[in-house]
Amino acid sequence: MRALVFEQYAGPLEVRSVADPTPSVAGVVVRVGATGVCRSDWHGWQGHDPDIRLPHVPGHELAGTVEAVGAGVDRWHVGDRVTVPFVCGCGRCPRCAAGDHQVCDAQTQPGFTHWGSFAELVALEAADVNLVRLPDALPFSTAAALGCRYATAFRAVVHQGRVRPGEWVAVHGCGGVGLSAVQVAVAAGAQVVAVDVTDGALALAASFGATHVVDGRSADVVATVRDLTGGGAQLSLDALGSAKTCVASVSCLRPRGRHVQVGLLPPSQGRPLVPMERVVALELEVLGSHGMAAHAYPELLDLVTAGRLRPDLLVTRELSLDDAGRALAEVGREPGTAVITSF
Ligand SMILES: [Zn+2]
Ligand SMILES: [Zn+2]
Repeated sequence: MRALVFEQYAGPLEVRSVADPTPSVAGVVVRVGATGVCRSDWHGWQGHDPDIRLPHVPGHELAGTVEAVGAGVDRWHVGDRVTVPFVCGCGRCPRCAAGDHQVCDAQTQPGFTHWGSFAELVALEAADVNLVRLPDALPFSTAAALGCRYATAFRAVVHQGRVRPGEWVAVHGCGGVGLSAVQVAVAAGAQVVAVDVTDGALALAASFGATHVVDGRSADVVATVRDLTGGGAQLSLDALGSAKTCVASVSCLRPRGRHVQVGLLPPSQGRPLVPMERVVALELEVLGSHGMAAHAYPELLDLVTAGRLRPDLLVTRELSLDDAGRALAEVGREPGTAVITSF
């Protein structure tokens, strides 16, 4: 199969021919129909993920068709149209038994713990636990965005953030996951303040229904967000993952507000100085969000099928695998989401 390979961190990204994967007993191999280009892939390429072994094939936001099935798989057959969460649960540990597959003790992640979907074929583990059947009408290019950014944003805003209609929600960083969070929060009836450092991302956030957009390059983002929200947001997300956006998100909350950390914060890039004195004095909640379990997808897919949520609007570029290396190296430079749709 053709795949995008790197042999050293931050080194060349080359499309070349490699051996086809075979399914494990409980796994499947999926022919990739579409795969999103995500900041997490960039982190992996930069060497920020300790699970990665070189040489490596990135890619974790995929949708496609089941190509081969392991002998122990019951629910899936060749030809089924599927996607997967980027965190695949083992199905056997106490976390999985509690339904919390997104924090599984023995999780696998395509594109991190093993080769991913910047390739014609990708192997997935514990298929009966992790595969999600796609509605026939949902194109692969839209579904590819669901597995990571959209599902992560949905869980962050709805499940972890417990958004309520009429609340003020601040979204710091409007890349793929941030714009997804804007859409989800608006659909939930919240008023959104979107913060980013590029005009293109702010324009997209406004087009998705953000009530206010704030230029993250301005001097006092926190004071601006507090002003616009009449004293602070009830819910705020760091959807980028940086010391600056994390601290701004915690700082812009009103008393009893909830901060959800969504963007990755690799320690090698410096840990944020979270103002814990505010967390205590204002009784803030600080929460994490790490993907979403496969069993939670029907609620999301129903909203997409009904047109209440529009992940398709996030896909601003469809590329070929030959363009994937450049798109990965330049992730975040252009607003919206790039999806590889030809291999
Ligand atoms: Zn991702
Ligand atoms: Zn597990």
